[in-house]
Amino acid sequence: NRVIVLDSRPEGTPTNANFKFENQAQPEPKEGEVLLKAKYVSVDPYLRGRMTTAKSYIPPFEVGQPLASGIIAEVVASHNDKFPVGQYVNGMLQWAEYQVSDGKGLTKVDATIASPSAYLGVLGLTGLTAHLGLMEIGKPKAGETVVVSGAAGAVGSIVGQVAKIIGCRVVGIAGSDEKVQYLKEKLGFDEVLNYNSTSDITEAIGKACPDGVDVYFDNVGGSISDAVYAHINRLARIVLCGSISVYNETSVPMGPRVETNLIKRSALMQGFILSDFAEKFPSSVQQIAQWLQEGKIKQTETIKEGFENIPQAFIDLFSGGNKGKMVVKVD
Ligand code: NDP
Repeated sequence: NRVIVLDSRPEGTPTNANFKFENQAQPEPKEGEVLLKAKYVSVDPYLRGRMTTAKSYIPPFEVGQPLASGIIAEVVASHNDKFPVGQYVNGMLQWAEYQVSDGKGLTKVDATIASPSAYLGVLGLTGLTAHLGLMEIGKPKAGETVVVSGAAGAVGSIVGQVAKIIGCRVVGIAGSDEKVQYLKEKLGFDEVLNYNSTSDITEAIGKACPDGVDVYFDNVGGSISDAVYAHINRLARIVLCGSISVYNETSVPMGPRVETNLIKRSALMQGFILSDFAEKFPSSVQQIAQWLQEGKIKQTETIKEGFENIPQAFIDLFSGGNKGKMVVKVD
């Protein structure tokens, strides 16, 4: 039974040396417990924060202890009537091939509605983050211009599609020409900029947003966001979802550096963590599922194969190695 533990806290960009594979005895489920076999493992940028000791809304991982994330697992032995053998479940679980659970925090996954991995992405926390962050803070209206950074990622690719459904002009910012093409041709974004090949990103955003920016959904922070703030409209809404561009910095640059624009334009900037909107989860999931069914939203995921590749898949998030949700299929 392979288990991945945190071997050392990363300094800068994480490497494989920060993770250790241990061979542990396969646990035995007791009364009320189930034995779970991991099937699909979510890797997420926020896990980087849990590898530090910085104070946060969620406790840090401990060195020498298993890492954990959203995992779809199959019940392979059961002493719990709620979860029979063969049932697929979703939960915050350890990076282990096998583990026991008392069922607390597990939800059943209906693999007949969507692929199990969708529950880690569009039908899971990713879809909720995109939909609720955009609607509750961004409050987009038809005809407005919405800019989203990290546009080809798990959250960003859904934000753009939801904004299109609302009737907005959608401009994405992403890291490669292939991603630009995908977002424009497959997901219907109006314009997408490759921040790696655009010499003057501030000017390019101005050209892509002739009427300015009404909503900015920010997944990356840093200099990309500075460039967007230069074009912010009066009463614009800025949704602070993530700041992946600084997660690996050892000293974080100060910002926002063009905040005077936000003052002059009476803009609103608000951060959130998904649990802020917990009471809206059921209606949000229902809405997203309906859009999926109607073909208005497309599920995008990058699936890596093999338990041994979980750390690398996580590391690849920081060099843009994914389109849509990054998931590792274990078998
Ligand atoms: P993504 O699927 O977007 O993966 C990360 C992507 O970020 C990469 O594919 C890469 O794409 C981009 N990226 C990596 N490094 C940089 C950089 N230095 N500058 C610009 N872009 C970079 O991850 P998620 O969709 O899961 O998460 C997106 C953001 O949302 C993260 O910041 C995350 O922490 C945050 N988040 C916040 C939540 C909340 O409750 N507030 C909940 C969930 C996520 P590219 O090729 O375009 O560079």
